Amino acid sequence: LAGMRVFSRYLELKAALDWLKGNMLPLPNTLAATGYTIVATRLVVLAWQIRRVGSARSLGVGLSASVLLLLSCAAHHLGHALDAGWTNAATSFCGVSSLFGALVVWHLGNPLANAIKCTIDAATYDTLTSLYNRRSAEQRMLELEHSPHPTGIIFLDIDNFKSINDRYGHDGGDKILASTASTIVRQLRRLDIAARWGLGDEFLILLPGCPFREATRIAQQINQAVSADGNCTISAGVSVREKGQSFENVIQIADRALYQAKNGGRDRVASIAP
Ligand code: GH3
Ligand code: MG
Repeated sequence: LAGMRVFSRYLELKAALDWLKGNMLPLPNTLAATGYTIVATRLVVLAWQIRRVGSARSLGVGLSASVLLLLSCAAHHLGHALDAGWTNAATSFCGVSSLFGALVVWHLGNPLANAIKCTIDAATYDTLTSLYNRRSAEQRMLELEHSPHPTGIIFLDIDNFKSINDRYGHDGGDKILASTASTIVRQLRRLDIAARWGLGDEFLILLPGCPFREATRIAQQINQAVSADGNCTISAGVSVREKGQSFENVIQIADRALYQAKNGGRDRVASIAP
């Protein structure tokens, strides 16, 4: 009698499992396919967020492999959902492992990407003006050293900034520094590089592919735009780095031109051809 009871329980359980197999499986499989696709998309977004870190190629290969694996798991589950079959154990194992890994990345992704972005920003930009810092400008000059094209160089310094600080206080001076930096950037092309040179009121601008006369014209345009704002005036020294010249020498020439502009009465542009 006990044996018959056990057998009848077995039959009930089997009937319940068969019902589950027939009715419930397509839904979890569709859900799994959707889950894998969402996680694959999240990985692509994460790759975009941290694209500036490390080797782009290794990041690309690693992420492409993960995304392909996730998408193949998604396709596998989708196939099973369509014919309502059982999940293949091996694929499920790979899928569950990669899903677990991807969920860890998902969970850590935003804080990690934010931390990386903050670190890169702090090392690249000046906090007050959001222009490049001196270190980044030097890095860009190293990259431009191999260019066969001229690079226009403008050295800018705010006139009588000490008396602006005296009149408006240090915080007021900071605001004028930041707004002058925005005005300068508005006169430039996207590929130009504007940097705060040191911690003071001095800026360096690199104009890739820009010849001497054009660089002088842009410096005059910046000078007029800053005057038009009405907060302060600037003096500028212009020169150009031609193929084969060192940036260090040309920056010294632009610095000499800036000195001439200051001595000539400020609020003006002086240019010295290299
Ligand atoms: P010049 O026309 O000869 O350039 O006169 P100047 O008064 O502008 O002289 P200089 O450029 O040598 O002085 C820069 C001043 O900028 C000195 C310092 O008090 C001030 N300064 C430097 N960094 C900052 C900053 O981050 N914020 C503020 N508010 N002032 C700064
Ligand atoms: Mg100054």
